[in-house]
Amino acid sequence: MSDIRIEKTKTPKEKPDFSKLGFGKFFTDHMFLADFNEKDGWHDLRIVPFDFIPIHPASTVLHYGAEIFEGMKAYKLEDGYQMFRPLENLARMNNSAERLCLPFIPEDMWLNALTTLINLDKDWIPNLPGTSLYIRPFMFGNDETLGVHAVHRATFVIILSPVGNYYAEGLNPVKISIENQDVRAVRGGTGYAKCGGNYAASLRAGKRAEEKGISQVLWLDGVERKYIEEVGSMNVMFKINGEIITPKLTGSVLPGITRKSCIELLKEKGYKVSERLISVEELAKAAENGTLEEAWGTGTAAVVSPIGHLYYEGKDYTVSDNKIGTLTAELYDELTGIQWGKIADTHGWCYKVKI
Ligand SMILES: *Cc1c(COP(=O)(O)O)cnc(C)c1O
Repeated sequence: MSDIRIEKTKTPKEKPDFSKLGFGKFFTDHMFLADFNEKDGWHDLRIVPFDFIPIHPASTVLHYGAEIFEGMKAYKLEDGYQMFRPLENLARMNNSAERLCLPFIPEDMWLNALTTLINLDKDWIPNLPGTSLYIRPFMFGNDETLGVHAVHRATFVIILSPVGNYYAEGLNPVKISIENQDVRAVRGGTGYAKCGGNYAASLRAGKRAEEKGISQVLWLDGVERKYIEEVGSMNVMFKINGEIITPKLTGSVLPGITRKSCIELLKEKGYKVSERLISVEELAKAAENGTLEEAWGTGTAAVVSPIGHLYYEGKDYTVSDNKIGTLTAELYDELTGIQWGKIADTHGWCYKVKI
């Protein structure tokens, strides 16, 4: 593997108003790219001005969807910044790569690419409360042939986007509809991989929900359409009768790093956390008889997002009076406190970079 060649932009962009960022709308001045082929391995590691990427019209990704990605964040500190569990993201990226026959990324290349790029665009890390620099690494199969076979050539890219709140609602409870027509993933498929194809399959249900003013859909398992899996881009947790229940990782659920971190925090607080199958009937019953105390989604983009309404087969179930639950708020404060460097990182989750 070679060093990273750096070509700085000659026309730096004007920075957006950090108080009006939204999610994924602005991009920094530079991006990282690297190419892979079987003969040379990873090569031509480079940071160049943020721009379009030329692509062959027969490129594998355009026809057969060979694409995986990650989502992580960098948080501004007094003397630099920190990323949250970036090696967990690398492990997942390589698991996704294995599933889609894309090449693995070595740890030194991952960390070197991330830190070199972020250091160069450090003035883009927003400093207002609730903001961060969203990091989007992604990789796609780039063979110049229409033949269907495992990937021989790939491109790895990292782009950066300063972000505020994921949901326009902020930390207010979101409305979620339980989807009973489309399915996102099945066991043996790619549900556990963070790949673009899973999202392509989810867009129609998302669109239907949006038309009704609902933020996201909650997926049921692809075979029986009975068990709760996860929300669009978040894992999901329920507090029922004091116990925390989250769907177990069956292979069709994305293994979230926020999920994993929340489970650790909740166990430390003394909660019983059960990773198990939970059926939609069990959930509806708990909502009806008042034992469903709180519900929330977990994911890097939204961190911890309270659920205020669940819609299922024409019924509207209100959760915690459509207010943020006590435990949901506590989890949000604790996790973001660690991420923003305001609470001691006793787990060694943060990867600090001084600049
Ligand atoms: C990325 C993602 C999540 C959340 O994972 P985190 O590591 O917590 O960000 C959950 N579900 C899906 C489908 C995802 O793509």
